[in-house]
Amino acid sequence: MIDEDEVSENDLEENQVSFFKCKKCGSCTLRTTNILDLIETIQQRLPCSCGEEEDAAYRTEQIRVQVEETGYLLENRHFTVEDSEREELDRDTLDEDIICEKCYRKYKDRSDLWEVTKNCSEEEESNLTIRCDGCDHEIEFGYSHLYKQGRIFLEKDDRNFKPRKTLLDPKYVEKWKKRGWLRPTK
Ligand SMILES: [Zn+2]
Ligand SMILES: [Zn+2]
Repeated sequence: MIDEDEVSENDLEENQVSFFKCKKCGSCTLRTTNILDLIETIQQRLPCSCGEEEDAAYRTEQIRVQVEETGYLLENRHFTVEDSEREELDRDTLDEDIICEKCYRKYKDRSDLWEVTKNCSEEEESNLTIRCDGCDHEIEFGYSHLYKQGRIFLEKDDRNFKPRKTLLDPKYVEKWKKRGWLRPTK
């Protein structure tokens, strides 16, 4: 059967995809928003400036950060990051070691003098949303591999969507269960 809505790969404009065409507005572009919750652990040193010691203090801080990445789902079924915004949610001091009391008291609040020696970032959670770029409606999706890995397949208007071969994004589990779309586990 030939689908009259089919888009040829050669006619695609930037960020358009051939596997999707919105039934509501005709757009072939998919916008993505990925929200990441990160925990950053940062080790810092404050140099001693009075000459008594080499370092005045060490500090380890833990920062909760939320990063919002926006982009597009492309023909290769992976999404891009065109823009990202970082918001610091809170900051905790886990450990502090004071060597030169004098310099520490004088400069502890001067964030420009602290030098980062180690920075580890751990992902707590990620939450991807896909919307039609034309009419903004949310489109459910799943992945080809476990743990949100691999290629992304859409639930709606996707020429190659196979419900039982797609590992859904966890936030859609309940909805898909009701539709009988979940792959039997045994
Ligand atoms: Zn000092
Ligand atoms: Zn649309």
